Amino acid sequence: MSTVTGASRESAVVDGVPHQLYIAGEWRDASGAGTLEVEDPSTGEALCTVADATAQDGEAALAAAHEAFPGWRDTAPRERADVLRRAYELMTERTEDLALLMTLEMGKPVEESRGEIAYAAAFFRWYAEEAVRIDGRFTTSENGKGRVLTLRRPVGPCVFITPWNFPMAMGTRKVGPAIAAGCTMVVKPAKQTPLSMLAMAQILEEAGLPGGVCNVLTARSSGELMAPLIADPRTRKLSFTGSTEVGKKLIEQSAEQVLRVSMELGGNAPFLVFGDADLDAAVDGALLAKMRNIGEACTSANRFLVHESVAEEFATRLAERLGALKVGRGTEEGVKVGPLIDTAAVEKVQELVGDAVDRGARVLTGGSPLEGPGHFHQPTVLADVDPQARLLHEEIFGPVAPVTTFSSDEEAIRRANDTEYGLVAYAFTRDLNRAFSVIEGLDTGMIGLNQGMVSNAGAPFGGVKQSGFGREGGPEGLHEYLETRYVAMNVP
Ligand code: NAP
Repeated sequence: MSTVTGASRESAVVDGVPHQLYIAGEWRDASGAGTLEVEDPSTGEALCTVADATAQDGEAALAAAHEAFPGWRDTAPRERADVLRRAYELMTERTEDLALLMTLEMGKPVEESRGEIAYAAAFFRWYAEEAVRIDGRFTTSENGKGRVLTLRRPVGPCVFITPWNFPMAMGTRKVGPAIAAGCTMVVKPAKQTPLSMLAMAQILEEAGLPGGVCNVLTARSSGELMAPLIADPRTRKLSFTGSTEVGKKLIEQSAEQVLRVSMELGGNAPFLVFGDADLDAAVDGALLAKMRNIGEACTSANRFLVHESVAEEFATRLAERLGALKVGRGTEEGVKVGPLIDTAAVEKVQELVGDAVDRGARVLTGGSPLEGPGHFHQPTVLADVDPQARLLHEEIFGPVAPVTTFSSDEEAIRRANDTEYGLVAYAFTRDLNRAFSVIEGLDTGMIGLNQGMVSNAGAPFGGVKQSGFGREGGPEGLHEYLETRYVAMNVP
């Protein structure tokens, strides 16, 4: 078996990142000296342990963010921009090590991890460029007598909670604009993948970010650690990326202090292929929309809705492509599909496939988990999926593509919208009029038109309905961290 890395390089990369908490510009052990184990999902073996933060550490991190806020708010925009630019450069220079680190803790193939590092770093670059362009306005009031002045001010200390599926980018997407705006923050990554955020903190420190601006806590019990921080009046903003289930709880908790809240939650993306679509492009797009991140993405195509005239050909071609993908440890040469994050994830995928098959779905390729060690599942394509099958209604979060058919545009759009989620949809058509009616008819925050990926640091990423609210990326991503202050000026 050929690998692109050796065990010694893997250990060096894991050991090259501090395994402590980063509070007030210092690396410290947890106050209770507790630790939690980080596992390689492709082997099930321990990689290392990191600090398990206590309530006391949570308090220290928030106190540091609170204390650092006035100084950072008043730091020259060009200085804030320079820190972000240096962080972008450092992250880019270290792509190989950071990509390997991410593959080890999360499982995705190294090639994809490299792509995520580039995407993550792009938020630092984009917001370095935005930091010096925060503006306000000055106008004459309607009656001609007064003046209207507006200023954009940073919201204040923020709390960020991020998921395991994109361990670096889901952090920089919040941290980049917050730093640019002049906010300070406490970041808590998922317990399965804490190392990437620790590596980010190390980079920000080297880039010259003052202590206390960005604090990172790793912990076993997220709820216990974070609830007091969300309830604390010093926190002024909560930004969460994760499941809709946890997001709902956090929205409730944030009501106490009437926090500004951004929620990047789950999805159930429809992938529409119309009869006039370029099928080569649709199959390429499907591969990307389904298999990126092993299917463990909020943007993952969860339901393929294909016009009945092309459904059989599309499903057959998709099955050929998925069936040919090499499954294995993300560090091995040629691997395109890594392990799922844990045993529970494999069991959930297996259960959803079983339910669809019980309801009459045909397995065109795959269909089963693979033997361990590690948490692997075969890339799977299912045809003739019953509309009631659970996997059309729940986030699959795995390498499974269910294909169903439609017969009219109206039916396609109605079924695409028939979900409580509204993050992203994909549509393949060569007809301009149809494209516009689809764009206007879909209830999602984002649409991939004739392309299978929407992520872009310069564009507003986010959903509607139970996929959340708020946007990350582009100018909209910066506005999440700014308040508008209006001054009514009396000009005698
Ligand atoms: P999750 O279980 O909701 O966890 C997300 C984060 O919340 C983790 O850091 C987790 O920490 C923490 N958390 C869990 N319970 C908490 C609580 N009671 N209080 C405070 N924090 C808590 O989601 P996940 O399984 O990591 O991520 C997958 C989900 O994220 C999917 O639904 C996916 O669609 C969604 N997602 C959405 C986007 C988007 O932009 N819309 C992007 C990526 C992922 P621990 O892990 O340490 O418990």
